[in-house]
Amino acid sequence: MSQVELVGINKRFGETTVIADVNLTIAPGEFCVFIGPSGCGKSTLLRIIAGLEAPSSGELRIDGVRVNEMEPAKRDIAMVFQSYALYPHMTVFENMAFGLRHLHLPKGEIDQRIEVAAQALNLATMLQRKPIALSGGQRQRVAIGRAIVRKPKVFLFDEPLSNLDAALRVKTRVEIAKLHRSLDGVSMVYVTHDQVEAMTLADKIVLLRPLAGNPDLPSVAQVGHPLELYHHPANRFVAAFIGSPS
Ligand code: ADP
Ligand code: MG
Repeated sequence: MSQVELVGINKRFGETTVIADVNLTIAPGEFCVFIGPSGCGKSTLLRIIAGLEAPSSGELRIDGVRVNEMEPAKRDIAMVFQSYALYPHMTVFENMAFGLRHLHLPKGEIDQRIEVAAQALNLATMLQRKPIALSGGQRQRVAIGRAIVRKPKVFLFDEPLSNLDAALRVKTRVEIAKLHRSLDGVSMVYVTHDQVEAMTLADKIVLLRPLAGNPDLPSVAQVGHPLELYHHPANRFVAAFIGSPS
């Protein structure tokens, strides 16, 4: 069974179509990367999967069940944003616990989940600090930890590294790949505009194109393994974006 399925997804804002006819399946455990130029609808598509935005038409399924009408908190999905969106008045521990509040878990279970996540992310000594006392990289790790403790079936990442400097970007990218390997059967959907990130992380790349001027084309220019897009680009747009040898 496929974890996430998008069937004929369209999204309009007013008169403007920003997502056209996306058909896509993301398998359990798959690392799927959405890539494409700024404004092509990557974030919007991710927000549709998360339930933060409703598609104008089409169906979204998780484990074969239509979830269009299901509220975000019930979707077994956790999202990590580019801006960390931590609560400044809460400690690291409280930030991580906040997303668990409506699961009604016993306190011991909450403590244990946070401890495991903090160990994995090198945050064990920082649990009582407020976000202001952390570096950018540490804050981003807290945001990832907040997603991990929910034990979702699907992780969504929207350009999680774009606010980090180059060295930290590479380090955090490696950590995300490690996290993915350690979570059996958990799918990741990862948005970036960085080709290197996409090529190194993805099992499957979904290259989106902007619709401006071409509203009749589907949004997805090509789907495939990174090497497939590189060596066998479906069209000139893909070749130019990926930088395929001509
Ligand atoms: P990306 O993440 O690929 O840069 P977005 O998904 O953020 O692209 O945006 C896709 C298009 O939809 C852009 O043209 C953007 O201006 C537009 N858009 C996004 N959100 C809204 C909104 N809430 N209202 C109107 N237009 C929007
Ligand atoms: Mg975006």
